[in-house]
Amino acid sequence: MMDFDALLGNEALKQRLSVSLSRGQLSHCYLISGPAGSGKHTLARLLAAAMQCVSLRRPCGQCAQCRKALSGVHPDVITVDDPEKKTIPVKLVRDACADLYIRPNEGARKIYVFPRAQDLNAQGQNALLKCIEEPPAYGVFLLLTEHAEQLLPTIRSRCVELRLSPLSDELLCRELSVRFPDTSPDALRSAMLRSGGYLGQATALLTEGAELLPQTKAFAEACCEHSAGALLRVLTPMERLKREQLRPILLQWTELLSSAAASRAGLPATGPECKRIAQSRTDAQLLRAVEAVQHAIALTDANVGTAHICGMLCVKLSDL
Ligand SMILES: [Zn+2]
Repeated sequence: MMDFDALLGNEALKQRLSVSLSRGQLSHCYLISGPAGSGKHTLARLLAAAMQCVSLRRPCGQCAQCRKALSGVHPDVITVDDPEKKTIPVKLVRDACADLYIRPNEGARKIYVFPRAQDLNAQGQNALLKCIEEPPAYGVFLLLTEHAEQLLPTIRSRCVELRLSPLSDELLCRELSVRFPDTSPDALRSAMLRSGGYLGQATALLTEGAELLPQTKAFAEACCEHSAGALLRVLTPMERLKREQLRPILLQWTELLSSAAASRAGLPATGPECKRIAQSRTDAQLLRAVEAVQHAIALTDANVGTAHICGMLCVKLSDL
């Protein structure tokens, strides 16, 4: 028995979907909204499986239709995105709208999934609007978004909105201790409190914090020593990295500094490095450091060279 159980919490929403499914009252356009890590992708997979499933109780998770949809290889569940591009190219939307009129290959429906609908520009949204207005009976659209308000009201009014909710502390805590059996209760609790109740965010906090990159360890050391020289020794070799190599390091630094700030505010520290930084720096210094690193991350998005970014960081961080 599978139903929507793979999505944790959100009981009212799951119940609502099961009732719609059993009555055959499905919408042809769903807006799945919630912050990062709230389960949007899990729900989209389950809903796509449920719509293609051939069993009585859907999704069953067992039939070929379910298995293909759940593992992301169903030919009639189509993702509309180009992760390389900042906005979703209008051409992809138009292609999807043309493809919509070709009947499904093997499923009962043809489902178009937009994993980040908020990144459609006005032109893209208008193109989408045309095809969600009167799709063929087998056509379904699943629009996932962190920011439902960024979609045109005309699109939103045609969608049934499924809004994901945070999990209860109890449920989240239980799930995290199953997923991270070797992590200390303090670290689990800290990740839980800082995740806003979203499993994906708590998991990201725990996995990112679990193994510090060598540059992060050296950075932590430099922070604790208040040493501009040590900072320079960390940052100089990083000038030669590519932007996509620099980014994960900087993300980890933000994470480390924010955890240190959170631990100064009374939350349990996520690791020994975090604890030491918290002891050696003031709240204001940590805040300025987080801002400097976040600014550097924004620059990696804006195609600024890594040498320039590292140079800027060195100046800002030595100044704290
Ligand atoms: Zn099935």
